[in-house]
Amino acid sequence: MSTLRGEFKTIDTKYYMSARHYNRTKIVATIGPACDDPEILKELVLKGVDVCRLNFSHGSHEVHKANVKTIRSIAEETNCALAILQDLQGPKLRIGEVVGELLLEVGKKVILSTEKQISTAELLYVNYENLPTDCNPGERVLLNDGKCELIITRKIDDKNLESEVIGGGVLTSNKGFNLPESNLSVPSLTEKDLKDLHYGLELGVDWVALSFVRRAEDIIELKQLIAKSGKKTRVIAKIEKPEAVENIDSIIQVSDGIMVARGDLGVEIPLQKVPLIQKSIVNKCIKVSKPVIIATQMMESMIVDSMPTRAEITDVANAVLDGADAVMLSAETSVGKHPKKVIEIMGKIITDVEMDSGVYYKGSKPDSSSPSFASDEVCFTAVRMSDHLNAKAIVAMTKSGFTGFKVASFRPKSSVFIFTDNRQLLNTLNLVWGVRGIFYDQFVSTDQTFEDVIRILEEKGEVEKGDYIINCASMPIHLKRRTNAIKVSVVE
Ligand code: PGA
Ligand code: MN
Repeated sequence: MSTLRGEFKTIDTKYYMSARHYNRTKIVATIGPACDDPEILKELVLKGVDVCRLNFSHGSHEVHKANVKTIRSIAEETNCALAILQDLQGPKLRIGEVVGELLLEVGKKVILSTEKQISTAELLYVNYENLPTDCNPGERVLLNDGKCELIITRKIDDKNLESEVIGGGVLTSNKGFNLPESNLSVPSLTEKDLKDLHYGLELGVDWVALSFVRRAEDIIELKQLIAKSGKKTRVIAKIEKPEAVENIDSIIQVSDGIMVARGDLGVEIPLQKVPLIQKSIVNKCIKVSKPVIIATQMMESMIVDSMPTRAEITDVANAVLDGADAVMLSAETSVGKHPKKVIEIMGKIITDVEMDSGVYYKGSKPDSSSPSFASDEVCFTAVRMSDHLNAKAIVAMTKSGFTGFKVASFRPKSSVFIFTDNRQLLNTLNLVWGVRGIFYDQFVSTDQTFEDVIRILEEKGEVEKGDYIINCASMPIHLKRRTNAIKVSVVE
């Protein structure tokens, strides 16, 4: 039986890795008022949070800055690597302020206006000035995650459209506004996103996610901005638009990771199509060794209730079985009533499902057209050997992270330990399935390193006498090239 989360095997501050129980599938928790108190957040981390998501759709820069400080100090104190993921709002359309609640009734006319004002049941302000030019009569408008539905009936002038309510409901301030059938000319990064991005980069976030990505160019543009500011921060494309689903292959190709953002995706495309799209995206990402996050409503009922529904448990379990790198919590941890319990239960679901052999190595071979085919094959072979030998650990040194992403993509049953002297990379790799990072900066000789690795893992209680360890190495070691060798060691 594996150790349950929250129970410490050993406490060790010597290396950048704690002895908390580790699942292979990572947990992303959105940070907000329900969990940003340092004591609460620390408990969440010890119970299993691997990635902290800062949602820039909410919260001031000062709050995000304070959260980064808290997260970094918890990582240091607990010796848990923690990745910070900045989530940029992207071109999300919203209605403005309303007074109290609005009731939209079926059959009533509603004006959609780009002139800033308080919204009412007769007139909704929308924060997008090209709305009347981009939209046409007959196109649908979805409000509040699809809970209300309008149809555009007439263009009034350059600033106003007329619509009719076809699905009624209640609206409160700043609810989302989706136009799944319209071709929007809105830029992929808004002015707010640009400001937020630079702020996040200054804070040293490890990943940046962009909402409402439509095409590969959106990600390329974001990557260029990051490169210009001298950073190497990796980028996640949030898939939540029909265009992104159409362009999924080219988007995956240019992104470093993907988020299946089921919240808006389920509004923008027919809901029943979400599950198979989710599964297809997970498979595509695993094939090219890029992390994939399943997001939204995983434990939705626990925003209020103290137990999840059976359907939610099964949803998390299925994401783990499919091989997703991470499962994400949004309001459950940021504003929910039971943030600690959510992490605890999610952790237990993952632990149990990961006892099933269906989660691991299935022998799918690397793609011969990959530009790194030879190194891919070395990583694949290491994982295959670990499977045949029932090895305890696969170990790799990495400068770029390549070996971490690649070895993990074959989903080995053995633990994956990545040794690197790049601290940001340790954080970044913490999003990746099964990867555990260890800080190591003694790259003197290959023999020396192999000995050190065994000693460190022994000290941490991760391996014991008689265990096999598979080392992926690059020889000669000082050149720090891509993995080109495998060594099998037995702990003596
Ligand atoms: P959001 O993205 O929480 O920023 O909207 C996730 C989603 O849409 O699922
Ligand atoms: Mn979204």
